[in-house]
Amino acid sequence: MKKQAKLIVHTGSMFSGKTTSLWRELYRMKIAGYKTVAFKPSVDSRHKDEKIISHDNLELDAIKIESVKEILEYAQNNEIDAIGIDEVQFFPDHPSKIVEYFIKLMQNHITIVVSGLDMDYKARPFEIVKELMPIADELIKHHAICASCGEDAWVSFRKSYNEDRIEIGAQDSYEPLCRSCFNRKMKDREKNKNQISLDQI
Ligand SMILES: [Zn+2]
Repeated sequence: MKKQAKLIVHTGSMFSGKTTSLWRELYRMKIAGYKTVAFKPSVDSRHKDEKIISHDNLELDAIKIESVKEILEYAQNNEIDAIGIDEVQFFPDHPSKIVEYFIKLMQNHITIVVSGLDMDYKARPFEIVKELMPIADELIKHHAICASCGEDAWVSFRKSYNEDRIEIGAQDSYEPLCRSCFNRKMKDREKNKNQISLDQI
């Protein structure tokens, strides 16, 4: 009998070790004899093709896809037991669609290991991760270390004044912060931002 499929969600801020955990989980499954494959959004062009690279440089072969729907097509044509998906918050698919695809995959006995940011730089939740958290069989929230005080970090603070929700390939402009350091630095950021726009008038 086929093993029961699970949804495993690794979430947390940037630099919290989500991708490393995704990699480790898939690696363990591989050793256990599962046929595994990893996917990543094609918008994530930080690294050379076909690899998921964590901050500690663990590499994992990954197929770049534009939509989560492509995973269903892949699963129809290949025998797989478990899939990994990195940076799930970058996919343009509607969250309800992604949930629907995941349910189909699990009905086909495919375990899904997902890694994704829980919140953007303004501490607003990423919708897809918000949808996946309650339906996960296993949910792991990872914490980086606050760059300001050394407590557990809570969110990824953006040091630059860019206001786009997603800024790909700008790792250097972020730092993990705890809740109180974040609140303090966000106030300063707003103040400085307004000052900059006043200076430009
Ligand atoms: Zn702090």
